[in-house]
Amino acid sequence: MMKSLKILSSIPLANNNFYILSKKLLNKSNGGYILSFHDLPSSKFEEHVKALLPAKPISLDELIIRYKANKSIDNCFAITFDDGVKNTVKENFKICKKNSWPVTFYLPTDYLNGDNLPFQKIEILEKYLKETEYDLPEILRNDKKLLKKNNLMSYLKKIIYIKDDLFVKKVLDHFLDFLDLMQKKDMPEPISWSDVREINKDQISSFQSHGVTHTACSALSESKLKYELKKSKQIIEDHLGNRVTSFCYPYGSAETINKMSIKIASEIYESASTLIRGRLKNKNIYYLPRIDLYKENPISLVRLKILISK
Ligand SMILES: [Zn+2]
Repeated sequence: MMKSLKILSSIPLANNNFYILSKKLLNKSNGGYILSFHDLPSSKFEEHVKALLPAKPISLDELIIRYKANKSIDNCFAITFDDGVKNTVKENFKICKKNSWPVTFYLPTDYLNGDNLPFQKIEILEKYLKETEYDLPEILRNDKKLLKKNNLMSYLKKIIYIKDDLFVKKVLDHFLDFLDLMQKKDMPEPISWSDVREINKDQISSFQSHGVTHTACSALSESKLKYELKKSKQIIEDHLGNRVTSFCYPYGSAETINKMSIKIASEIYESASTLIRGRLKNKNIYYLPRIDLYKENPISLVRLKILISK
């Protein structure tokens, strides 16, 4: 898929007239969409959004209200950022403010309260863990194997999609203990609650839930899932004093979202976002697709992703 996307992206979509013409030919102006960003420099973010104009950025809230009411959302899109990394939120909010683009930030509350995200811990382990053999921690005592760093890293990258929050935390924190303090500090800092409150004063911003521990929903029991969805909503509402109505599934792939998560999200929220690519057209409001854009994407690929999303 990526390979064919790359080949297709060599067509001259960076040219504005060609992009507008392609939109007409492909009749793809129907159905709004939600953009999903993670960590990217603000200059890239601005370039990506500007490449989609004259389509109009509107707030996620408005997009969903219009979609639910069967009103037209053609040529409208919402901007979302996941994970609450301090620099990402602050720098990209400035761009949104400058251009009057409404923006939604999905926050994992434990991260803001001091515990780094599972994939950030993995990145730091990959960077600093010495090349030697590692014993698996006590939680896996039956599995007496010694693992080389390579195998250990693949093992860690696998468990974050299939194990619950306690298991993932125990295993990752066990290996983090091999690093010194300076190395551990090399993980991205979260946005602070006071910064969140400050940004939230601006009408164009909105903060919604990305869970408590950033755990794959399909790895959680029913009671833990309910806890993750309710607690994160309550924490953000307590800090901001306004309602939190949208949930963003951690990791967001089809494998990490089971039927139970969709059901529970529908009992607690008014909408829920995935990372499955698509437009808002005949889609379940608790299984909303998004179009994911990354810093390495050239404008032609950004436009191509929009054009081919159904
Ligand atoms: Zn995330």
